[in-house]
Amino acid sequence: MPATSSGSARPEEPRTAADRHLGPGAHALMRRNFGNIGNAQFQHVAAREVGAPDPPEVVEVAARTFMIQPGMANVALFETDEGLLLVDAGCAGDGPALLRAVRRVSARPLHTVVFTHGHVDHAFGLWAFLEAGERPRVVGHENLLDHYARYSRTAGLNAAINGQRPGANGRSWPSAPEDFVVPDITFRDSLELRIGGERFVVRHAKGETDDAAWVWAPRRRVIAAGDLVVGYLPNAGNPRKVQRYAEEWADAAEGMAALGAECVITGHGDCVRGAEAIRDELLTMAEYLRHIVRHTLDGLNAGLRPDEIVESLAVPDHLAAHPRLQPHYDRPEFICRNVIRRYGGWWDGYPANLLPSPTVTQAREVAHLAGGVDALAARARELADSDLRMACHVAEWAFLAEPQSPSAQNCYVEVFDRRREAERSLMGKLAFSQPHQRVAAARA
Ligand SMILES: [Zn+2]
Repeated sequence: MPATSSGSARPEEPRTAADRHLGPGAHALMRRNFGNIGNAQFQHVAAREVGAPDPPEVVEVAARTFMIQPGMANVALFETDEGLLLVDAGCAGDGPALLRAVRRVSARPLHTVVFTHGHVDHAFGLWAFLEAGERPRVVGHENLLDHYARYSRTAGLNAAINGQRPGANGRSWPSAPEDFVVPDITFRDSLELRIGGERFVVRHAKGETDDAAWVWAPRRRVIAAGDLVVGYLPNAGNPRKVQRYAEEWADAAEGMAALGAECVITGHGDCVRGAEAIRDELLTMAEYLRHIVRHTLDGLNAGLRPDEIVESLAVPDHLAAHPRLQPHYDRPEFICRNVIRRYGGWWDGYPANLLPSPTVTQAREVAHLAGGVDALAARARELADSDLRMACHVAEWAFLAEPQSPSAQNCYVEVFDRRREAERSLMGKLAFSQPHQRVAAARA
């Protein structure tokens, strides 16, 4: 059966929750990074009753092989005579639309499901298939179980840092046993599947998570990569999340590049087609990550402080210019920080910061030295044209020193709005949006 394929751009929603929270253009950035994500799901990624705004895109990338985009994450579907192999299942709310999309292209039973990792946007839509009577075997890396356990233990934290609100079941994040589909088969390094007489290889790699798996279909020359390949700079440095693994991510990219694949179905965004383009992207990604890791380890081994290491990081042009490795989500500096965290302690190396005076007390002292928060606000605005990073420090001191001061409040929002507009990464935009919430809380 032919796939319904559409590469056409979707019309933009006029003013969305993302734009309200993250500034103009944020929703477009999220659509580019994550595809089919809408207003309501943006704050309800764990809710079964909230799905993506548009019907899934389905693209036949090779014979009997489909990339489906039910929501913000992609799903790979391999049809065999014995049944279907599905790689990932989207967000909980994407399950019903994914089931309909799968059934439009094949009537064969769901034979096997592989979860590429336990993230909320990849491993939670399968319930719709199970409720419809499908009985697939489910495969995941052995660390997936720890990932689920961590979700349960840190549900409040995850809901807060991802801006989530409760769904119909009262939960903002997967945390109850019934929220999870537990694998029937786990593996450590790799696993060979045979479905319909065809070989599929599932391999483990650490990357964005420590439970990542990717699938190689040698006969079709297709890789289903999960979030190991996403079409922008790898999310290897997320400022508010658990450890990422830049070196192992580079290993995985090189391992995939060596296979001679003709299509990589990515975890988010467009697939990569053509052996040449695949090698170019994967090997450049590996080189980019290794460059950051090497710089960071050199700095740590030379006894440099974290800020000295991050400040001296320079990315060569041929890496920085790659169109599919742009910092739309993370930044190279964040990846550098993540490597520092992996090998070093939490102290920034400044003695005053080992057991510091509270940040608010420091800000009040700076305001006192400056002659008041109005002077700080004026200086922040003055600096904003020449040194926006420093202007942000000064504006933040003013607000922290006197949160009820209208001039400090206005300056805080104004300076960080400029910073947010200048920022390309989604993680940066998120952080630079916080003054809006803090000022609103102070005014309430
Ligand atoms: Zn993802």
